[in-house]
Amino acid sequence: MIDVNKIRADFPILNRKVYGKPLVYLDNAATSLTPQPVVDAITRMYNCHKANVHRGVHALSQEATDRMEGARDKVRDYIGAKSTAEVIFTRGTTEAINLVASSFGEQLANGDEIILTVMEHHSNIVPWQLLQRHTRVKLNVVPVDARGELDLDAYDDCFTDNTRLVAVCHASNVLGTVNPIKRLVEIAHSHGVPILIDGAQAMPHRRVNVAELDCDFYAFSSHKMYGPNGVGVLYGKREWLEQMPPYQGGGEMIGTVSFERTTYAELPFKFEAGTPDFVDIAAFGTALDYINAIGIDAIAHYEQQLLDYATERLRGEVPGVRVFGEASHKCPVLSFLVRDINSYDMGVLLDRQGIAVRTGHHCAEPLMRHLRVTGTVRASFAFYNTRDDVDRFVAAVARAASMF
Ligand SMILES: *Cc1c(COP(=O)(O)O)cnc(C)c1O
Repeated sequence: MIDVNKIRADFPILNRKVYGKPLVYLDNAATSLTPQPVVDAITRMYNCHKANVHRGVHALSQEATDRMEGARDKVRDYIGAKSTAEVIFTRGTTEAINLVASSFGEQLANGDEIILTVMEHHSNIVPWQLLQRHTRVKLNVVPVDARGELDLDAYDDCFTDNTRLVAVCHASNVLGTVNPIKRLVEIAHSHGVPILIDGAQAMPHRRVNVAELDCDFYAFSSHKMYGPNGVGVLYGKREWLEQMPPYQGGGEMIGTVSFERTTYAELPFKFEAGTPDFVDIAAFGTALDYINAIGIDAIAHYEQQLLDYATERLRGEVPGVRVFGEASHKCPVLSFLVRDINSYDMGVLLDRQGIAVRTGHHCAEPLMRHLRVTGTVRASFAFYNTRDDVDRFVAAVARAASMF
């Protein structure tokens, strides 16, 4: 069970007022709030263990290294990876996907094909388009149905002899749809094709085990999981990572360097050029401890109830509301429009009532085009939100709608 009052005490920002109104933070899909233990972990790193990692002979350097590598082991454990060699720290989901597009992409040839879906975030579209500057890869896009679910037959039909990779989100940041990832992996593997999963929206809200999923790559961001900004993870199966060329060059990622010949470091360091953000990586480990202490299954259950309650109340109490995304499995994301009211105008009026939501295209313009809208209003929930937050939100939407 979630003790929401106890949890909220760990998030001092929730005591803030906005325009004199209590803050109702429903923009969790953009970034989550950070609990005090994580903030304390950052402070502790600066105050006690600030030294560069992996090379110092001195005590502080060893302590910083232990904390960074300790966090890597926590990530390995959290996602069920076999080895820390398969856990690469990046700046976020975006950089993790760019790493694969750049490094795995380097081995692709003109005419090779990549399968994406229409519900992808720009960060799982544009890196593949950048690859097209060097190699004429073809992008095949899987459509979604009216409920916002992927068409699995169309997905299967996208595979050809030239398909080299599937890149798909675990959960949509707009529709909330949680894709049947295990099935998508099985289908890809039945065609002999590896699969990359953008897990930015799924990781904060449900149990993910990469070994069970058997996916080849999995990318996610700390800042959407109550951790610090500037840290992300690329999980990759060792077989792929071993054969992929480095992404960036510099310190940390080398074995030996000479002007004639440079060798690369072992995994995972081969893909971590330069001084890593060891302060925030260590604090991300604390964020995982925080989630584990509450329990991800309890979180998922609680958030599902909030989403159901919010969807039902919004539909019941706001005439003319249109909800985007009615998949049978959803993460706690509620996208909607009211009549023909512009999403931005609605967002401004909600803000004035202390309600923080996201408006616009949510970095998913192709999906907006598919839905034939220019944007939506998106309320997204976390385990520190309450039914009272939902009540205030619905009342604020109804009030705003009555002003047009
Ligand atoms: C937020 C998000 C990203 C990008 O994550 P960054 O942390 O900005 O790198 C990618 N995909 C999805 C589905 C997202 O929600």
